[in-house]
Amino acid sequence: MSAEDQGGAAADGVFAGIGVRRVVNGVGPATRLGGVALHPSVVAAMADATRHPVRMDELERSAGRELAGLLHVESAYVTSGASAALTLATAAMISGEDAARIDELPRIEGVPRDIVVLAAHRDPYDRALEAAGARLRVVGYPNTTHLGEVARALDDDAAGVLYRPGRPGDHPSLAAIASLAADRGVPVLVDGALYAPPLENLRRWMDHGAALVALSGGKHFRGPQASGILCGRSELVELVALQHQDMDEREATWIRGEGGATPLTPPRQGIGRAMKVGREQIAGLLAAVARYVAAPGADNEPGIRELERLRTLLEPGSLPVVWHETSVLGVPVLELDLASAGLDADRFVNALRDGDRPVFLEESEAWRGVLQVNPMGLIEGDAQSVADAVAAAVSASGVPDGRRS
Ligand SMILES: *Cc1c(COP(=O)(O)O)cnc(C)c1O
Repeated sequence: MSAEDQGGAAADGVFAGIGVRRVVNGVGPATRLGGVALHPSVVAAMADATRHPVRMDELERSAGRELAGLLHVESAYVTSGASAALTLATAAMISGEDAARIDELPRIEGVPRDIVVLAAHRDPYDRALEAAGARLRVVGYPNTTHLGEVARALDDDAAGVLYRPGRPGDHPSLAAIASLAADRGVPVLVDGALYAPPLENLRRWMDHGAALVALSGGKHFRGPQASGILCGRSELVELVALQHQDMDEREATWIRGEGGATPLTPPRQGIGRAMKVGREQIAGLLAAVARYVAAPGADNEPGIRELERLRTLLEPGSLPVVWHETSVLGVPVLELDLASAGLDADRFVNALRDGDRPVFLEESEAWRGVLQVNPMGLIEGDAQSVADAVAAAVSASGVPDGRRS
């Protein structure tokens, strides 16, 4: 794919016209940089989706069925992101199909609304659950949790459990937590945004008793940036439509029972109405997930080639670089070891950002003097832009080139 194929040239045009600069995204599927480039066939599906109107409830139902088939899950529902999926799942866990409760969220009182979460699993995205009116019930410690602590928290106020995979420490397994939760009749919601795909992880969480899983459309799947999936058990996933879809309906003609809606009278606009998805997002996500399932990770290849080019451009230089064959997102990453070169990471980040073509790299390891380049958001030509920006930042900081040799 050339930069033009990926929409690079068009984006320059539209955004340059309103004074917005193009940047280099070496972070990966970062929302603050608009995510990754979409494959032309995904863009084509989105354009096709705008040609004529459809009933959104029908579209959501059919798209959910398709996605459930592709992902091998019972049910799926398209949301505006994994974060929205967490909010919608929480709303469904708290209010069920009770129209009065749906209308009350998020200021609901007198019903179970605690979501149990391990201290080790806490994350800034917890806000997405609180937005639906949940109260987080934090159990255990960063490095250790007793199953008994989870059991104690699963009292009459508990509406569900949030589980985040990939956190190290001595903690009960998902299977143990889910089995306990099932005994108390509450569902376990897995925040799978970072760890699925690979789809084997999704399969394992389901096998281990997860009731709901939130997935991001804009990360591994390379779908539209504002898309996500809530998937899992049908009776729960089907509740989400009520919380999410436009309820500008008349009571007399509202179709009860469609889309899993079973209250006797319709609720009003739900808490999820502020997280609506358009038909373009749904069509683009379907196309992207189908591409992923047919050839997992294949659309990362152009970015990976660009990362290889960058490695060649940077080595050998004054800045030690380390190639890692894989990372949390399943792609290779290139590490810039600023600490070894005696460079200050914060100053370096600012220098990259303040150049003619602003460059953004992954900063999660900046605390130890390491920046990472993730290939997923790179487009043709970016390797040269990053190499130029790195050279400028190094020379601005006064380290002589070739210091290692
Ligand atoms: C990225 C991420 C989210 C949010 O995903 P969006 O699709 O951007 O809403 C939620 N949880 C975790 C752990 C994430 O990494």
